Amino acid sequence: MEIEFCECGSMMEHKQGMLKCRSCGKEVKKEVSGKFTTQSVREDVVVIENNKPGTLPTTTKTCPKCAHGMAYWWLIQTRSSDEPPTQFYRCEKCKHTWREYK
Ligand SMILES: [Zn+2]
Ligand SMILES: [Zn+2]
Repeated sequence: MEIEFCECGSMMEHKQGMLKCRSCGKEVKKEVSGKFTTQSVREDVVVIENNKPGTLPTTTKTCPKCAHGMAYWWLIQTRSSDEPPTQFYRCEKCKHTWREYK
């Protein structure tokens, strides 16, 4: 059985001639031919490049986990470009990673 992907990027389950997304709950009717191709281009795949400590800029940010005052940060455009990017932080000390919406 082939694996189908939802437009949100998650795997879909085959269910009584339908495809149901485990993540967002979206349902797509599976064609009788057994061939279903998703039209959407997966532009929202999150790729963290150069994500190694030392290559990222740091800022004064208090870690919510260990209260260390310095964290690496980077921005990721997760969805369509008209939505604000998500800012990620990673604690310099304990490597705890968290996000903040701008
Ligand atoms: Zn989905
Ligand atoms: Zn920390």
